[in-house]
Amino acid sequence: EYIAKKGYQALIDALAGVEPGEIIEIIKASGLRGRGGGGFPTGIKWATCAKHSGDRYIICNADEGDPGAYMDRSILEGDPHSVLEGMLIAGYAIGSSQGFIYVRNEYPLAVKRLVTAIKQAEACGLLGDNIAGTDFSFNIKISTGAGAFVCGESTALMASLEGQVGRPRAKYVHTVEKGFRDSPSNLNNVETYANVPAILLKGHAWYAGMGTEHSKGTKVFSLVGKVANTGLVEVPMGISLKEIAFSMGGGVPKKKKFKAVQTGGPSGGCIPEQYLDLPVDYQKLAEVGSIMGSGGMIVMDQDTCMVDVARYFMDFLKEESCGQCNPCREGITQVLEILTEICAGNGKEGDIELLEELGSMIQKFSLCGLGTSAPNPVLTTLLYFRNE
Ligand code: SF4
Repeated sequence: EYIAKKGYQALIDALAGVEPGEIIEIIKASGLRGRGGGGFPTGIKWATCAKHSGDRYIICNADEGDPGAYMDRSILEGDPHSVLEGMLIAGYAIGSSQGFIYVRNEYPLAVKRLVTAIKQAEACGLLGDNIAGTDFSFNIKISTGAGAFVCGESTALMASLEGQVGRPRAKYVHTVEKGFRDSPSNLNNVETYANVPAILLKGHAWYAGMGTEHSKGTKVFSLVGKVANTGLVEVPMGISLKEIAFSMGGGVPKKKKFKAVQTGGPSGGCIPEQYLDLPVDYQKLAEVGSIMGSGGMIVMDQDTCMVDVARYFMDFLKEESCGQCNPCREGITQVLEILTEICAGNGKEGDIELLEELGSMIQKFSLCGLGTSAPNPVLTTLLYFRNE
């Protein structure tokens, strides 16, 4: 079915006569940015990885861990070949012969479908040695995750892939230079790779024709919470929050009032009603204190207690902090204790100022992205729902 829909055509065309460097230029020109959360330009990442010598690796981050988000799971279960083809094209462009998919152990159906897809591609000569009769060889292995949220962070993911404890390290040297097995490693998430074949088939201008100035193409969001229609939506970048929550999501049920939408998962922020017309792209979300993240979108209604929401995310992050640096480990614990006391009716004068001070300390001094973004739900809640 995938082949009938022009699947693997982009790969075959590339192998038949497009230079690896040209492919990287096409990806750069398309404006594709990493869909896993950071939004780093994919073409630049590929070009940097290709520059470093050694055994290069192509790694797919399928360790989707945000509560309420299942965009990648859906792609892996429904369209696994698009991810394999994206990785193959990346392998050819960067000069790699080995790929890994690091997938959540909690996604058994996704793993099963990936195993089937890999066997099918191998049987068709589209994966393995001398692909489509060319000199290009590429293999893909699946590695199931250890069940830790922090393993979605690039250095922790690669440590886990090596069989080490999944803990982040300081990135004085980036993973595109020294990552998995100290070799140049290109890490993108499932959705990013799945975009690649279509960009090559339809051209970078087609892709760049959708979206906003700095955020091109489409994005899949997982719309959950207090909306009539929950589920996945794929929308062009730049669409407003209102269109997603009200036109597609059908608005808040039971005639209740919309209160806020949380984007970006536990590291994101709660955006209030006054920003409903905000166009959704990387910059605009950052301007109001949130992030795109991997695409989780949780709608909240008038009955949602914002202090409780902040406490929920802090509780999640306290469990998931790897604990190796003090600002994150102790800071999140203290923030959670204060929020728990406020929720129990035992808030004190000075708690809010202390939350702000702790939040800013955790942001500034934590080692990895989990810590530096952990205070976002608390700080945006304080910004927009201070009275509460
Ligand atoms: Fe671990 Fe948190 Fe430090 Fe990241 S910031 S390394 S998760 S303790």
